[in-house]
Amino acid sequence: MTGSDPAALAAADAAARLVPEAVEQGVLYIVSTPIGHLGDLSLRALAVLQGVDRILCEDTRHARTLLQRYGIRTPTAALHEHNEARSAAQVVAQLAGGASLALISDAGTPLVSDPGERIVRAVVDEGLRVVPVPGASAALAALVGAGVPAHPSTILGFLPRKGGERTSAIAWACRCPHAVVLYESPSRLGATLTDLAEVAGAERPVVVARELTKHFEEFRRGTLGELAAYYTDTPPRGEIVIVLSAAPPAELPTEEVLRREAETLRAEGQSARTVMEALMAKHGVARNVAYRLAHES
Ligand code: SAM
Repeated sequence: MTGSDPAALAAADAAARLVPEAVEQGVLYIVSTPIGHLGDLSLRALAVLQGVDRILCEDTRHARTLLQRYGIRTPTAALHEHNEARSAAQVVAQLAGGASLALISDAGTPLVSDPGERIVRAVVDEGLRVVPVPGASAALAALVGAGVPAHPSTILGFLPRKGGERTSAIAWACRCPHAVVLYESPSRLGATLTDLAEVAGAERPVVVARELTKHFEEFRRGTLGELAAYYTDTPPRGEIVIVLSAAPPAELPTEEVLRREAETLRAEGQSARTVMEALMAKHGVARNVAYRLAHES
């Protein structure tokens, strides 16, 4: 189907008339778009994308597929992580001048592991209006289909690739007393599940959601040990969300055990600060206790 397909245009027009008054001047709309199934664009999103003066897109070529599918001919402009900061003033000026703008990302909900945060901040700081037009998000789709307690939960997004930041993020995720949602690339899935298993233990339940809303949608459930082995042997294709289930209620080691651990780390040459952070990350020890143990040892 193309942008000039009369049937598509008629359907889009009819749908848009359901919410004819959707667009206001001087407003930045944050519009969620489908994560696979093109039917997951809301009627309101369609009306807003048709009605605004300009659509700010993470990638204008990528956006064209969606916009053509719905016969949306609104002008577009690129707004991605590399030009977001310097575009902010321009966006604010356009809104202040009465323009209506929509922000979309390549898929799902902007700002959720996608660009947009700095623009929204700048617009809010100027006292201008930001209006969300909610819809698809891979994190929420994975969470509601995973079959683990979903509330409360944390959307962590992509883990840092390496180093101390990755270690701390994994420690935090594994200790979290509720479900944690992670984005991951298919090529790194096996390694990430292995890293999580090392910290959370091989028995922790986990769900891997793949190709959500698409033809090969799949939820694979098991333990970290099982799924790490499976995906290391069978590297997957497509897009992936990991839903790590909650940490079981932790029993804090006794202070004597913590002190010995702190002493061992100090004897290995770690600084008091590193030891304090290690105790907090690994065991969830309160900062003041970790500080004391790290400095006593
Ligand atoms: N803002 C988007 C959202 O709200 O879903 C997420 C953007 S993030 C850059 C892209 C990541 O989301 C992918 O690498 C993948 O982990 C996940 N993702 C996006 N679409 C997906 C899908 N259809 N199925 C599974 N995961 C998906």
